[in-house]
Amino acid sequence: MDVREAQEVLKLYFGYDKFRPGQEDIISNVLAKRDTIVLMPTGGGKSVCYQVPGLVMPGLCVVVSPLIALMKDQVEALLGNGVNAGYLNSSQSSKEQQLIEQQCFDGRLKMLYVSPEKLLSAGFFSFLKRLEVNLFAIDEAHCISAWGHDFRPEYLQLKNLKIQFPEVPVIALTATADKLTQRDIQTQLYLQNPTVYSSSFDRPNIYLQVQPGQKRMEAILDFLEDRPFQPGIIYCLSRKATESLAQKLKEKGYNAEYYHAGLSAKDRDKVQERFLQDNLQIMCATIAFGMGIDKSNVRWVIHYNLPKNLESYYQEIGRAGRDGAAAEALLFHSLADVMTLRDIITQGDNKKDQALSLAKLDRMQQYAESTSCRRKTLMHYFGEEYPKDCGHCDVCDHPPVSFNGTELAQKILSAVARTKETIAPAQVVDILRGSRNQMSLAKGYDKLKTFGVGKDLPPLEWQRYIHQLINQGMLEVAYDEHGALKLTKGSQDILFNGKSVELVKFQAASPKEEKERATRGKNRNPLATALFEHLRQLRKDLAQERGIAPYLVFNDN
Ligand code: ADP
Ligand code: MG
Repeated sequence: MDVREAQEVLKLYFGYDKFRPGQEDIISNVLAKRDTIVLMPTGGGKSVCYQVPGLVMPGLCVVVSPLIALMKDQVEALLGNGVNAGYLNSSQSSKEQQLIEQQCFDGRLKMLYVSPEKLLSAGFFSFLKRLEVNLFAIDEAHCISAWGHDFRPEYLQLKNLKIQFPEVPVIALTATADKLTQRDIQTQLYLQNPTVYSSSFDRPNIYLQVQPGQKRMEAILDFLEDRPFQPGIIYCLSRKATESLAQKLKEKGYNAEYYHAGLSAKDRDKVQERFLQDNLQIMCATIAFGMGIDKSNVRWVIHYNLPKNLESYYQEIGRAGRDGAAAEALLFHSLADVMTLRDIITQGDNKKDQALSLAKLDRMQQYAESTSCRRKTLMHYFGEEYPKDCGHCDVCDHPPVSFNGTELAQKILSAVARTKETIAPAQVVDILRGSRNQMSLAKGYDKLKTFGVGKDLPPLEWQRYIHQLINQGMLEVAYDEHGALKLTKGSQDILFNGKSVELVKFQAASPKEEKERATRGKNRNPLATALFEHLRQLRKDLAQERGIAPYLVFNDN
C-alpha cells in the first residue's frame, strides 16, 4: 500500500501532518483489504481510520452510523474539508435521497453515510451492487452487542454485508473495550480473521474522583465556583433530574440547560448546538447525550448518579478532555442510587441479562467504594495491564491508612441489631450521632443504648465505615426491604466472638487542602468574594456588549 498517499490524503483533506499512534497500521491493514476491528477510546481518532483509506481507494466508502445527528455532523465536516460526502436516512425527502443516489451512480460521491435501517431497507443491497464499494465501515460497532449499552437490534442484520459482499473489507470501530463486546462484533459481523487493533484506553489527563452522594448539590456548587467558565456535562439518571438540576443552576446564575430523549429532535439539536459552539457552559443530561459528539474542550464530567456499569461510566467520562488538556471526572456515589438501578434492572424480563447487569452494577459499586487506585481498577476491568498507581486520582492523593476498627464496627452492628435489622445506613448514622429527628423519636430510637454513642465522628465518616463493612461482608443490604441492613455470620463474630476488623481511615482533607478551601467557594475571604462578584458583573456587561455568552468573555480565544 502507499503510505505516502495516505499521508498526503491526511494532509490534504484533514490538515494533519502526521498520523496518531495506531492510525497508520490500521489504514495499511484496510488498504490490504483485510477485515479490521478498532478499539480506541473516544476522541482517539477513529474516523480517520476509515475515511483516509476510503479516499485513497477507488470507489465508494459506505459508513454505517447509528445516529442521524452524528451522520449529519460528520458529513458536514467532510464537505467542509472538500470531501464529496453524503448521507441517506429516514429524515430525508425522497428527492434528497435521489440526488445522493445519482451522485453515487456518477461516481462523484466518495463517502456515503447510512443508518442501519436504510442499509437494510428493501432494494438497498442491489443498489450497492451497482456501485464500486471499496469499504464498509461500521461506526459505534458495540451497538451490535446485546451485552453492552446502546444495543441496536438492527445492527444484528449487518452480518448480511459479509454474505452479500464477501470481497469488500469491513472495518468495525468502537470505544467499548470489553472482551464480550469485542467477541460479539467479530462473530455477529462474520468478520474473516480480522486484525484487532486495541489502543490503550487510559486517559491520563482525566483526574478521577468519587464523592459520597449526600449533599451533592452543595458539592456541585462548590465545584463550579472553582471552575468558572469551564464547559462540562452533568449526567443524571432521570429526565426529571436533568430538568430540576438545570433549573437550580440557572437560579444560581449559571449558564445551564438540560438534554434528554423526551425533548423534540429540534430542541435537542438546539441545545446540543449551543453546547458545541461554546454558548452553553453546563449540560445536564441523561445518557442520551454524548454519543459521538466531537467537542474537544469539555473540561469536566460529573455523574450526579451512579452509572449502571463501568463501560457506560468510562464512555461518559471520556467526553472530557478530548483535547488532551487537564480534565476532571467527579462521581457521586450513594447506596440509594444502587437500589434504584437494581430496581430498574430487575424489572426487565430477561433473566440472563439481569444476572449480568447486576454483576456489572456490583463492579460499578466496587469501583466507587474502592480503596485502591481508581485508574488501575478501571484499566484492569478493561483488561489492560497497569502496574503502577496513577498518582492522578483521589485515592492516590489520599492513600488509605487502615486501623483497628473493631470498636466502631461494634457500634454500627449493635445499632443494626437493636433495631431488629430494619434500618438503612442513613438511619444507623442518625442513631449513632443521636439526631433527634422525627423518625428517631417516632420509633423510640432515642431510648436505645446506642443512641448518640457516635457523636464524635461526622456523618460522612460513619457512612464510609458502613460501606466498608458491607464490602467486607460484615453487613448485607436487603435491596427488597428498602435497603435495610442485615447482620451476617461475620457480624456475629465481631459482636460476640471477639473478632477484630480492619477499617480504612476516613481521610478528611489535608491541612493544605483545608487552607485552599478557605480561600475559595463559600469560605472565600470577603475581599476575594468582592473581586469575584466584580468580575462576574464585568463579564456580564462585556458579554452583553459583544452579544456573546458571559462565560466566553475570558476564554483565550
Ligand atoms: P473518535 O471517533 O475516536 O471518538 P474522532 O475520529 O472524532 O474520534 O477524532 C477525534 C479528534 O481527533 C477529531 O477532532 C479529529 O479531527 C482529531 N484527529 C484525528 N486524527 C488526528 C491526527 N492524526 N492528528 C491530529 N488530530 C487528529
Ligand atoms: Mg467516532
